This record gives sequence, structure tokens and C-alpha cells, in this order.
Amino acid sequence: MSKKFSPDKRLLQKIDALYPTPFHLYSEAEIRHRTQNLKAAFGWNEGYREYYAVKACPTPGVIRIMQNEGCGVDCASLCELMLAEAMGFRGDEIIFSSNETPKGEFTYARKLGAVINIDDITMVDFLEKECGLPEQLCLRYNPGGDFRLNGSIMGKPGEAKYGMTRAQIFEAVRTCTYKGVKRFGLHAFLASNNTNVEYYPTVAAELMRLALDLTQETGCEIFMLDLSGGIGIPYEPDQAEVDIALVGRKVKEAYDRYLVANGIVNIKLCTELGRYMTGPAGVLVTKAVHEKHIYKDYIGVDACAADLMRPAMYGAYHHITVAGKEDRPSNKTYDVVGSLCENNDKFAVDRQLPEIEMGDYLVIHDAGAHGRSMGYNYNGRLRCAEVLLKENGEIELIRRAETPKDYFATLDICKDIKFQ
Ligand SMILES: *Cc1c(COP(=O)(O)O)cnc(C)c1O
Repeated sequence: MSKKFSPDKRLLQKIDALYPTPFHLYSEAEIRHRTQNLKAAFGWNEGYREYYAVKACPTPGVIRIMQNEGCGVDCASLCELMLAEAMGFRGDEIIFSSNETPKGEFTYARKLGAVINIDDITMVDFLEKECGLPEQLCLRYNPGGDFRLNGSIMGKPGEAKYGMTRAQIFEAVRTCTYKGVKRFGLHAFLASNNTNVEYYPTVAAELMRLALDLTQETGCEIFMLDLSGGIGIPYEPDQAEVDIALVGRKVKEAYDRYLVANGIVNIKLCTELGRYMTGPAGVLVTKAVHEKHIYKDYIGVDACAADLMRPAMYGAYHHITVAGKEDRPSNKTYDVVGSLCENNDKFAVDRQLPEIEMGDYLVIHDAGAHGRSMGYNYNGRLRCAEVLLKENGEIELIRRAETPKDYFATLDICKDIKFQ
């Protein structure tokens, strides 16, 4: 059983009085703890670094904690690069891992000295024409087919739009070497939200075998292997947390077997975890504001899919607790719903919960990654604030809630209207 970050009712009342619900709340202690565990698991590899996947939670107040622990950032777009720059990340503290890259973004990434990870063989020309090839370049690999662990399908790289085939990786290395690239990184992302301890070791082995073949056949230098993201978290309360120390040991076994045993000893590993780092460290806090009894029993809350889209988008499970009622029996069945005019705006369907009264705080767990960051403004809904619970118990507003002014900022016609 995983233990979830569960702020108590008194804390939520205190925050609500300052920054009214809904809001995302993150635990500094939990983020630090997870970062330190990850670092310890890969401490055997000199040069190892976690590059937090900015898209999971592009909030400086959250990223700063991992930055303090020595992490870099994995960016996928111009604005994510700008955010990294504003936070003081430079050079090889940044990996730029984009796909279908718009014009101008590689130039920006190169100005920051970021490690560029290209997604396709055509990007060699595109990158060269735009800003020249750097001395070191990372290549994204897609082995195709199905990604299997212990016989079951965990992902379908063959259906994924990312990366290059094995033949293209070899071609890219030869072409780029000819054009002056000195060192290569290899990257692969083969399955998402995977809680199997074999996930990373399997991806690692795949990349290590490729690295070995490339060095032997082309003579190129491989300087890094990027295991990317994808380690999952226990969204359901009876699921277990991934044993990250064991993952680290198993990756080391692969490293010793495929690389060290073949005389290759100085390749640095990196990870680009998003969900694993901050997912369980964040919750969406919302208040029950309406109840409705028709063919089913509904609890209407003041958050909606604009604040956390995963249930609406993937039917994803997010555990919900009612603050102050954690120990009461879950003897009611509710759909917990937001206010969007879309019938998928449901945080939970047929969920067993304690009896909910209006004004109760509902804590929607594991919202700290791919939560607020996936938000949008559909239905004219405004995205909510983000609050950090610091290690010393203080609370800090790390992003204010949107206001109508933000919503209208891109419209000229609303510029001169005085709203009531
Ligand atoms: C989304 C993404 C990640 C992070 O994925 P998680 O599932 O949050 O760990 C890492 N790298 C790349 C290139 C990504 O697109």
C-alpha cells in the first residue's frame, strides 16, 4: 500500500482563507525526499543527473526544489526553455527534447547551450540549416514493435510518433560524424506510467546494446544514455510504490554487463522523470459546493477538468479523500463532478466515499504531475492557484489563480470594456 500525501483539514482551512479553493497544493518535503531517493539509486553512476520533465509541472516554486538538489530540466518547447532560462538553468543542465520542432526553437536551445535531443533523421538537416550542428548531439531511438515486460505489452513504440529506427540512428551517427559532431547521446521513451521495476532496466539494456553496436560499428563516442521518463506512480491506493533503489541496482547490473564488461566505463546516465518526481507530492483541493440527486448522486465541486484533465482525458483514476472524514466508512456512492458543459468532467464515477456535506474539502490525490499543467480554459473556466507547503510548515503561493484579465489578455475587443 502506498502512503499518500494527505494535508489535514485545519491546514486546508488555513490555506482556503488566504487562497480560496480550488488550488493545487505541493509538499516540499515529499519532492525533496523523492529527489534524494532517486539520486541515491543512481549514485553509482558518475555524472548521473535527473532532468525534471518541465511539462509535468512547469512551476518555478516546484522545480526550484529539485534544482536545489542538483537536478536539471527537460524542456520540449520555446516557453519551457524560457522558463528554464529564467530560473538560471544553463548549458548541460538543460535537455531540449522536442518533436515536430517549430522554427527557431533549436536556435534558442543552442544559445542556452542545452543538450539537443533530435527526434527524427530529417532534424539533422533542419538543425544544421537553422543553427549548425553542435559538438554533442542526442538521438531519440524507437525500436518499434511492442514493448514487453515479462510477456505483457506495456507500450507500443511501433505506434508512437517519436524517435528513429535503428537504421536511421546508424545513418544519423555516420552523417553527423562526417559533419563534425563529436559525441552522441541516446534516448528512448518506451512506455508511460509504468510501475514495473523492470521498466527502466529494460530500456537501459536496449540503449546499452545499441550504444555498444554503434561504438563497435562506427567508432563513435557515446557520452550519455537518457532513460527518459515513464516510471509510474501508484494512483490506486492498493498499488505499491516503485522500489527506486532496486531499479537503480538493476540498471547498474545492465551497465556492468553490457558496457563495463566491454570496456566502456564512462557513459553518464540521465533520467527525465516527471510523474515519478512530483505526482504523489501534489493534490488538487476542492470544495463540495452542490449536490444533485437524479438517476445517480452527484457532488458538484469548485474545481473542474480545467484544473486536472486526466480523468476526463484518459478516464484516469485519482484517489479522493474527504478532509476530516478520512476514517469514516465509505458507504455512499457518488459521481464527483466539475462545472464544464461536458459529461466527461468527472473526477470520479461511482466512487465509494463517506457522506459528503456542502463545504467539505475533497482532496484529489496524485495531481502533482500532468495536473495543472494540462489545464486549459474551455468553457471560460480559469485555472486555479498553486500553493507550496514548505518543509518548515509555512505556506507559499507559488502561482496565483488566473483572473478574467488573463482570459481576455489575447483579445483586443475586450481591452476597453469595463467589466461589472
Ligand atoms: C513526458 C516526457 C517525460 C516525462 O514523462 P513522465 O511520464 O512524466 O515521467 C520525459 N521525457 C520526455 C521526452 C517526455 O516527453
